[in-house]
Amino acid sequence: MWGYGNEAADAVRHRRAADLQSQIESSRTRRASDDVEDRLDRHVLLTEAMWELLAERLGLTSADLAAKVLEIDGRSGAVNGKREVAPARRCPSCDAAVTVGARTCQFCGEPMDGHDPFAV
Ligand SMILES: [Zn+2]
Repeated sequence: MWGYGNEAADAVRHRRAADLQSQIESSRTRRASDDVEDRLDRHVLLTEAMWELLAERLGLTSADLAAKVLEIDGRSGAVNGKREVAPARRCPSCDAAVTVGARTCQFCGEPMDGHDPFAV
């Protein structure tokens, strides 16, 4: 009787622990998704502001913008609506593969030339 009761109580505790773990993971996923959405909103806002400044101050048109988008899009060899991702670089100090867009080597801290300001 006691053994059965303890097993049942253990099963309930395990189920509650699993439920809590699931809730924690869902919460983390929601926060990560919210963070990505916030960052995307910020990028859209900055892009819109930059475009309006360029149009107002330099007289660029939507046709100029569309032509530049096509030019950049085509650099990968295919116009597919995606920006080409730069290949991984090697650290000049320790020869490790450095994360695309990193300002410094993540292994030895060596500053990396040619940092891509648009890397994500
Ligand atoms: Zn290095």
